[in-house]
Amino acid sequence: MDHVMDLKCVVCGKEYAPDDIEYICPDHDNDGIVDVRYDYDFIKSRISKEKLAENRDYSIWRYKPLLPVLPEAKVPPLSIGWTPLYDAPRLARQLQLKHLWVKDDGRLPTASFKDRASAIAVVKAQEKGAEIITTASTGNAAAALSGICASVGQRNVIFVPESAPPAKIAQLLVYDSTVMLIKGSYDDAFELCLEAAAEYGWYNRNTGYNPYMTEGKKTASYEICEQLDWNAPDVIFVSVGDGCIIGGLHKGLKDLLALGWIDHMPRLIGVQAEGSNYMFEAWQNGENILTKAPVSGITVADSISAGLPRDRIKALAAVTETNGAYVCISDDEILNAIPTLARGVGVFAEPAGAAAYAGLVKAVAEGLVRADERIVVLNTGNGLKDIKSTMTSVTMAGSSPYHIEPDLEVLKQTIQSNRIL
Ligand SMILES: *Cc1c(COP(=O)(O)O)cnc(C)c1O
Ligand SMILES: [Zn+2]
Repeated sequence: MDHVMDLKCVVCGKEYAPDDIEYICPDHDNDGIVDVRYDYDFIKSRISKEKLAENRDYSIWRYKPLLPVLPEAKVPPLSIGWTPLYDAPRLARQLQLKHLWVKDDGRLPTASFKDRASAIAVVKAQEKGAEIITTASTGNAAAALSGICASVGQRNVIFVPESAPPAKIAQLLVYDSTVMLIKGSYDDAFELCLEAAAEYGWYNRNTGYNPYMTEGKKTASYEICEQLDWNAPDVIFVSVGDGCIIGGLHKGLKDLLALGWIDHMPRLIGVQAEGSNYMFEAWQNGENILTKAPVSGITVADSISAGLPRDRIKALAAVTETNGAYVCISDDEILNAIPTLARGVGVFAEPAGAAAYAGLVKAVAEGLVRADERIVVLNTGNGLKDIKSTMTSVTMAGSSPYHIEPDLEVLKQTIQSNRIL
């Protein structure tokens, strides 16, 4: 691969040729995540802003020269990427902001941001001729792997906590994955999956372990900047569990700066739930993330439940190197944000997606953003993933349906007595 220079360990700085190691730097147990580094001069000979403007492939593969795959690699047929970036003027007004956009990754084929990474995993596994791909997941990474594997007939084995929302488990089963429901947490599922991958030689998609997942996730940054005509926003809000998405967004922005396609680095604001706030605590208190003990990880936002964020080194750098911040919000604030986002811009998010918006609300209250800044909120998952939380959120918002007989008089009575019109 001419455009991939090396893999650099983010713990010790050691550099490896791409074929020297498969996933991690072996010197730090399972924590030796590496960064894929590129030859930007070579890439510039293959892709430009002008060429992109003429490219009608509206998927992540429009950025193929910037991805760790071969130019001739066959890519899965599902349409992944180029999700809409909606202007959100009514929400902006509520928050007294001038420019606010919501990017909706709930629209990807398996309804979460994770499709961006799983697409790369499937291409890499097929490059290696792997018979089976595996991952542990809180639900969405698994659903994404499962769906993309189904699109190309690739076998896979999935490890998710038994407590994952039923919709996510249904996705795994409909795509015919082999599903291990773990009687334990995501962290337990992760450890078992790593052991199983080593035991059976399966291709390992795990977050914070397989370095190429960051590379898929970075495409969201490319899209945001291209959709804004290469005028990078000032701030991007995203929820954080393992920290791979925020690390990926950072990587994409660094690529664009290195290519000279954007002129400044947006601040990245990571949003965490109170019960799963490892990164927030570490950042605020200056704790050592190689030795800090796990937190409980308990939150209604199952997709950002991570007691020990697997991609914490990249997740911390994403905030410190961009002069960003971590903010921490309660489960009630997350649930409140679901109807607010749906009503304010028409985007229906699962709790972890709405958490990013709840984080913006908090950041505005705390003065972390200025009124004239150009702000993007990333919705990472579709609301249909978790109907139970949605119903709780609308009940909290005071919304309930009227149960009536199919009769016009009854309807009129109901409208009148409830002062609906
Ligand atoms: C995975 C996920 C996140 C968090 O991503 P991390 O890389 O674990 O930080 C946020 N929202 C949704 C919907 C997700 O599926
Ligand atoms: Zn190392």
